[in-house]
Amino acid sequence: MSKPLGADRTATAEASTVDDVLASVRARGGRATSSRRALLEALFNTDGHLTAEELAAAVQARAPGVYISTIYRNLDDLQRLGVVVHSHLGHGPATYQLASSAHAHFICDNCGATVEAPDELFQGLARTAKAKLGFSIDPRHFAMLGHCSVCA
Ligand SMILES: [Zn+2]
Ligand SMILES: [Zn+2]
Ligand SMILES: [Zn+2]
Repeated sequence: MSKPLGADRTATAEASTVDDVLASVRARGGRATSSRRALLEALFNTDGHLTAEELAAAVQARAPGVYISTIYRNLDDLQRLGVVVHSHLGHGPATYQLASSAHAHFICDNCGATVEAPDELFQGLARTAKAKLGFSIDPRHFAMLGHCSVCA
């Protein structure tokens, strides 16, 4: 799970069904297998914040014949193909989401509330980091910790 992601290899924002994502997989040279379909279906049927372990359980609930090792390998492969991304929400294990619906998060360090952070919030920071440091930030990879409106 520790392979770096190709920063510029994300799926198109129009991918809105499992078939759309499998079409992207094929367009990028990957195979659209039934176990990959089961994994994508599990991702489409959650709010997109499952750990690898939770995802594996969700896939096995839908498709009991799929081995855990196959699920983990598919997770790696689909990340390499740019249709799935992981992000770290606070202190726990990484969570996975579809690249087409990936977004940044703020997490309250006090009560654990998760706030979805629109990309526009990071545009100024992204421009400044690029201009001053030549660095392209990826605000979706790690959540930013702080305090929510209730705890502030
Ligand atoms: Zn990571
Ligand atoms: Zn809070
Ligand atoms: Zn989210």
